Amino acid sequence: MDNCSSPELMDLSQALKEMMVNVVPVKNTRILPLNDALGFVLADDIVAPINVPSFTNSAMDGYAFKHREGITQFEMVGTSLAGHPYQEVVPEHACVRIMTGAPIPDGCDTVVMQEHCEVTGNTLLISRLPAPLSNVRAKGSDLRQGSAVLSRYTRLTPRHIPLLANLGIANITVFHQPKVAFFSTGDELQPVGSVLQEGQIYDSNRYTLTALLKKAACEIIDLGRVPDHPDAIKATLLDAAKKADLILTTGGVSVGDADHVKAQLEALGQVHFWKIAIKPGKPFAFGTIESEQTPPALFCGLPGNPVSALVTFLQLVRPLLSRLSASQTDPAPVTLSAIACEPLRKSSGRLDFQRGIATCNPQGHWEVRSAGAQNSGVFSPLAEANCFIVLERERGNIAEGDTVTIELFDHFLY
Ligand code: AMP
Ligand code: MG
Repeated sequence: MDNCSSPELMDLSQALKEMMVNVVPVKNTRILPLNDALGFVLADDIVAPINVPSFTNSAMDGYAFKHREGITQFEMVGTSLAGHPYQEVVPEHACVRIMTGAPIPDGCDTVVMQEHCEVTGNTLLISRLPAPLSNVRAKGSDLRQGSAVLSRYTRLTPRHIPLLANLGIANITVFHQPKVAFFSTGDELQPVGSVLQEGQIYDSNRYTLTALLKKAACEIIDLGRVPDHPDAIKATLLDAAKKADLILTTGGVSVGDADHVKAQLEALGQVHFWKIAIKPGKPFAFGTIESEQTPPALFCGLPGNPVSALVTFLQLVRPLLSRLSASQTDPAPVTLSAIACEPLRKSSGRLDFQRGIATCNPQGHWEVRSAGAQNSGVFSPLAEANCFIVLERERGNIAEGDTVTIELFDHFLY
């Protein structure tokens, strides 16, 4: 067990449970044009107002006719194009030329693809007679009018938007997105783009959070950089609690002399827990801050180290935000078993999220190696990585060939 671990540190799963019980999902709704609704969460069940397709139509370019066993010769009497139906009833032994998406005329029930036909003048000879009803898309075969299509609490992704468009639904009722306010703490932090003096660093965490929050479908309130001063932190937390459903900070949450965030959270609200048995990310703090708004604002204090900030966001903040947004369909991380291609150092006591590079070998098995240095102040290996190597709390060093769990994360970052 390393010196940063102790048995009383809270498990990640317990921390997540404690966070979730404090979440009151957003309730207010708004109506949005379908094209603006991507990433929002549906506030109503969607029932199909029409049949899709709304008329029976051809799935092929070919000829429509009434199927009769053994009959393969027909007289062509017209054409049905997409958007230009054939208006008459097609008599027995007759057919129409038909294109994909065109309505099946009355009197026809089957389409033969043009590759299976010969046409001489006005006469169609079918060389390969299809089964009855072939190549026909029946009215309502995709979605039947009145059927349940999507349920309330579904987050709208590019899979869902076309479904709603197919149904002619131009405006939909969705939940408001959660408002997330965040700021960085640290006297050493300087704006990206400025010239650094000795001892100063760029405030990269605010870029991390902005990028992550943009992917998380929420309203972003960037409150800037705040010095390591209790009053400044207090004032910014109060401001944030008035504006946001969730407050995120980075830095100042550990045990150093300039770490004032937790004390200010204690002064203004409630610390539900502080410190969890994960690496990196141990000093993570969770709490609530009362303000005029009900329910109280949720608070997550992320560690300052850039890797810890990103890891704790993905492991803790992301599920919290998902619950806050009322979504019941957000995907869980993709977890796989992989073979370690090299030994991995691991001290027992905390759940490790090592940064790894996973590949699927030609036999279809996943293999993983370390993405580089694993200390939380070194960010560049994370930029190379595509997964976390998740090493259980009590586990020790990993030998080459051992089986480990990996969590692919790129789908959360694109
Ligand atoms: P702290 O959690 O405040 O003790 O910070 C831990 C480490 O993370 C220190 O090396 C800080 O300089 C660094 N750090 C804190 N905040 C940021 C930030 N916003 N961007 C980049 N590094 C940071
Ligand atoms: Mg600091």
